[in-house]
Amino acid sequence: MFLPAELTDPLTFAWTELPNPVINRAVPLPAPNWPKARGRCLSPSASEFALTTLFLSHPSGLEHDTGAGHPERADRLRIIEQMVEHERFQNLHRAPAPGADTAALLRVHPEEYVRAIEAAAPKEGRIRIDGGDTVMSPGTWEALMHTIGGASAAVNEVMRGNATNAFVAMRPCGHHAERATPMGFCFFNTAAIAARHAQAVHGAERVAIVDFDVHHGNGTQDIFWDDPSVLYASTHQMPLFPGTGAVSEVGEHNTVVNAPLSSGDGGEAFRAAMETRVLPRVDAFAPDLIVISAGFDAHRLDPLASINLEAVDFAWITEKLMGLAAKHSKGRIVSVLEGGYDLEGLAASSAAHLLMLMSA
Ligand SMILES: [Zn+2]
Repeated sequence: MFLPAELTDPLTFAWTELPNPVINRAVPLPAPNWPKARGRCLSPSASEFALTTLFLSHPSGLEHDTGAGHPERADRLRIIEQMVEHERFQNLHRAPAPGADTAALLRVHPEEYVRAIEAAAPKEGRIRIDGGDTVMSPGTWEALMHTIGGASAAVNEVMRGNATNAFVAMRPCGHHAERATPMGFCFFNTAAIAARHAQAVHGAERVAIVDFDVHHGNGTQDIFWDDPSVLYASTHQMPLFPGTGAVSEVGEHNTVVNAPLSSGDGGEAFRAAMETRVLPRVDAFAPDLIVISAGFDAHRLDPLASINLEAVDFAWITEKLMGLAAKHSKGRIVSVLEGGYDLEGLAASSAAHLLMLMSA
C-alpha cells in the first residue's frame, strides 16, 4: 500500500491539466466517452484475469434530469467520466453498469414502494416526489435501474475475486432513501442493496458500510438499525440535513456508529473522528466486505455543507479502509457514489479515491 506521489500535495493535483477544463461552467459538458457494451460486460471467471479496480457507469445516469439549478445534476457524472479519460486512469477497467437486478432491489425495498416509484415517473417534465428536492424525470427510472444493477454487478465481481475493488459512478444517490421513503435526492438505497446482495448471493456474513458523505445516511442507518450483521458507520456534519446521526444513535445491537463533525472542521477533525470512532469499530467487526457510501460533499468547495476536506483526505480514508479490507476481507471494497456538488471538488476527490483504490 502506498500513497501515490501526486496525492501527497493537493496543490499538484490540479484538474486544470485535463485536456478540456470545464470546471463548474454553466453549460452542459460534452458527452462522455462511454465504454462499449461487449455482451456480458464482465468476465465470469476469476482465473482468466483479476482486475484491481472496476469502474461501472452508464449513460442513463445523465438522463435523470433534476432541472436547472439543482445541485444533483448530470454534470457530476460528466466530470467524473472526463476525469477517468486522463492517462492516470489507463489501468482502470471501465464497464457499463448493467440494468436492474430486481431481486437485489427487493431485498431492501418493499415491492409496493418500488412499483409506486416506477409509476410516479412522469412521461414528460419533472415532478417533486417528496414535496422537496427529490425530483423525477422521464429518465430517472432507467438511471435508477442501472445504479442498482451497477451496485450488484460490482458486488458480484468483487466477491468472485474478478476485481479487488469497484467504484459505481452513477446517480441518483441512495443513502437518504429509507425502506419505503424517498428523500434527499435519493429513491433506492444503493449501499444497502449492495450489502444485502453480498450477503444473500455471496454468503458474506458481516458487511461494514462506511459513509463519508457530509450528510448523515439516515436511510442506511434506518434499514440496518436492528441488524447485527451490518455495521453502519458515518462521519457527517451536524447539525445539517437530514438531522439524524447523533453519537447516541447506536442501533439495537450497537452496530450503528455515528461520528458527527462540526461546521468548519477540516481534515484533522475528520481523520481524528475516523481514527478514534469509525476505523476501530470496522476493524473489530471484521467484515467480509466493505461498502463505501462515497459522497464527496465534505470537500471544502462544496456548496451544500461547510466541512473543509481536501482531495488528499479522501485518499487517506480510502487507504485506511483498504488496509482494513486487506486484513479482513481479501481487500474487497465496493464504493458507490453518493453526494458531491462542486464539480472541481468532486473531480479531485473522486480522483483521489479512485487512484488510491487502483493502488491495491
Ligand atoms: Zn451528501
